[in-house]
Amino acid sequence: MQDFNFIKPTNLEEVSSLLINYKDKARLIAGGTDLIIALREERLPSNLEIIIDISHLKELDYIREEGGYLRIGSGATHVEIAQNELIKRYAPLLSQAASLIGSPQIRNRGSIAGNIVTASPAADAVPALIVLDSRLVIRKGQEKREELLQKVFVGPYKVNLKSDELVEEIYFKKLPQKAKSDFSKLVRRNAVDKSRVNLAVVAQQNEDKKVIDIKISAGSITPLPQRFKEAEDLLLGEIPTANLIQKTGEKVAEEMMVKSGYRWSTEYKEPVVKSLMVRALNRVLEVE
Ligand SMILES: Cc1cc2nc3c(=O)[nH]c(=O)nc-3n(C[C@H](O)[C@H](O)[C@H](O)COP(=O)(O)OP(=O)(O)OC[C@H]3O[C@@H](n4cnc5c(N)ncnc54)[C@H](O)[C@@H]3O)c2cc1C
Repeated sequence: MQDFNFIKPTNLEEVSSLLINYKDKARLIAGGTDLIIALREERLPSNLEIIIDISHLKELDYIREEGGYLRIGSGATHVEIAQNELIKRYAPLLSQAASLIGSPQIRNRGSIAGNIVTASPAADAVPALIVLDSRLVIRKGQEKREELLQKVFVGPYKVNLKSDELVEEIYFKKLPQKAKSDFSKLVRRNAVDKSRVNLAVVAQQNEDKKVIDIKISAGSITPLPQRFKEAEDLLLGEIPTANLIQKTGEKVAEEMMVKSGYRWSTEYKEPVVKSLMVRALNRVLEVE
């Protein structure tokens, strides 16, 4: 393992100054569930000089309601998110997603920002956050900028964060009372495995059962986490029927093929994605 200094700053200001001084010679560590593996496998840059521990910072560990929004500190762990009453009430799919990540040990240590910044195509919190239209508050020194979560991903395992920036907060609008949401995940062999497919859906119908909001995202089936707009457009403004739900499932599988190309796993994934999507839509929509 390469040599580096391990620093445990006492506050966020100190963290920001270290990042500005060391730039790409520094790396943040929150839960360490991704970073320690990268270190062991020598996947970190050879010029790395310091690792900055932010796991203990209370400034980054909160979940609160503010106006119509839920705000999550970037250090909040998956277990905190899974068990939080505000998240259960206003964004239940995020609670579901967090509760299905890894094992209890991983959920106790792994943070929401770590899940985002690692940018694994199989990340579970990410599709749930995408259908919630989440935004990131990104900090450099005293300055802050905001970015739509979806725009942060520029490639598998690549985010457009500068080396002197850190994610301070993730926030999104509370789902309306009448909205329904769902997160489902298929793993290879056991519960600790990463997702082979995961699906996140938010939907709302009016009194006539017309779909007035529908957002679909998925993990592990496209190189970048994204919405499935063509599938969403099939349902938007319509009263769902069993036939339309089937067609929407097919469209998601079709969009996956367009975005990822034909791969060794396509033969397996295409029918699986379609059928998981149909089941998810049946859980969130009242069908005529
Ligand atoms: C056995 C095992 C099972 C797993 N199962 C799953 C699973 O089922 N689903 C899933 O989605 N993931 C899974 N993971 C991956 C991992 O646990 C998650 O991605 C976790 O959320 C990472 O968070 P962390 O705090 O541990 O990140 P760290 O390892 O501490 O950091 C990861 C990256 O994020 C950066 N970073 C951390 N915090 C910030 C910040 N505030 N601002 C900017 N950059 C930051 C770090 O510099 C590093 O590059 C698994 C991992 C293991 C080892």
